[in-house]
Amino acid sequence: MTVEKDCCATPGLLPMEDAIALMQAEVDSPSRTKAVAITDALDKVLAEDVSSSLNVPPHDNSAMDGYAFRADDKALNSDLKIIGESLAGHPFSGEVKAGECVRIMTGGKLPTGADTVMMQENTLRKGEQLELLKWPAKGNSIRRAGEDIKVGETVVKKGTRLSPVDLGLIASVGFAEVKVFQNLRVAVLASGDELARPGESLPAAGIYESNSLVTLSVLKRLGVEARDFGIVEDNTEKLEAAFSEAAEWGDVLITSGGVSVGDADYIKDVLEKMGSIGFWKLAIKPGKPFAFGKVGDCLFFGLPGNPVSAMVTLHQLVVPILRVMQGETVDSQHSFKMALSENLRKVPGRKDFQRATLSKTEDGSNNLDPFRTQGSGVLTSMSESNCYIVLDIDQESLESGDEVEVFPFDRWIGR
Ligand code: AMP
Ligand code: MG
Repeated sequence: MTVEKDCCATPGLLPMEDAIALMQAEVDSPSRTKAVAITDALDKVLAEDVSSSLNVPPHDNSAMDGYAFRADDKALNSDLKIIGESLAGHPFSGEVKAGECVRIMTGGKLPTGADTVMMQENTLRKGEQLELLKWPAKGNSIRRAGEDIKVGETVVKKGTRLSPVDLGLIASVGFAEVKVFQNLRVAVLASGDELARPGESLPAAGIYESNSLVTLSVLKRLGVEARDFGIVEDNTEKLEAAFSEAAEWGDVLITSGGVSVGDADYIKDVLEKMGSIGFWKLAIKPGKPFAFGKVGDCLFFGLPGNPVSAMVTLHQLVVPILRVMQGETVDSQHSFKMALSENLRKVPGRKDFQRATLSKTEDGSNNLDPFRTQGSGVLTSMSESNCYIVLDIDQESLESGDEVEVFPFDRWIGR
């Protein structure tokens, strides 16, 4: 593979879009598929189009509880004779002729001969006779066969991450199984001598490790088969052993820490020996240092150690690539423009992902409130926020009233 090494010596930084393009060029959509029951298919990625072999609904049927008859009978100027009933699942087997009608319930199949339904509230039943209090237009209150789905129509496309509604559609055309892409295996590990596992006692100058759990949890939501390879000390032999074990098992390895200038050399030496890795300085904030490449056949993402940098780079750079590797057709993230209600500081040079809270005020308008501190180690800036304010590389400080782009992020990061 061709990964540019040290592509962006200071002062040049690599724009995020260029980094994504470089990474996308290295990944393919998956080829391995498996059949799963629709009851187990939620959030999996569909590996082939699902087309319907039937109309939904299968027959013309009533949208109301009422009576079915011929609209032209209005000209008879008399009551209609009730000759039977059509209930959902229990159709009327005869034919409706001039001057006749059939009692019909919602979902009941429209009887042969009838072309119109009137809801019961607009009728007056007198024993076996029916008076219509008003006459509807021909075709009233009828749901047509194939109105929702027609024979041969694709109901869910290959590459769709199956939502509850997608599964409902697939069930509605009668399939009990679907073909989905095979699980992606992703190994996760954290590097750093200072890191301790939650639950263990904290050594002097130690901190509790949190990046792996965030990463593993995001991966879980993505439906990835993720495995924790633990904390690895800043030690060449140990790193080498851990990387080869993780790369042996996984299609992808995600590490955090040890990629910034200063401590990078270390991991850098190990990784350059084992594979082809580029150490990038990304033009984004937070999250400047980032590594990407391959260890053997295993794709490698090296996240920065600072927890917010790790999350933002995971969210913005890694998750979209993993989704492609899972076979998903990935849409661009939803965003919208909104006016700032306060001044915002921004230094040009990096794309800024400021964390903020979008909320409704008492008068019903939207309020955008940037988090009080934007430091790359302040994890509460993510947990207490629900969106990014994304400011482009060249953007300078903004004033209250200026418009900014807002990206809600609940879906992948969660709260
Ligand atoms: P590094 O990228 O290794 O230079 O780490 C940058 C900062 O992030 C340091 O303050 C580390 O202690 C911290 N850090 C590194 N890895 C983790 C982790 N897995 N969980 C929490 N903090 C971390
Ligand atoms: Mg470190």
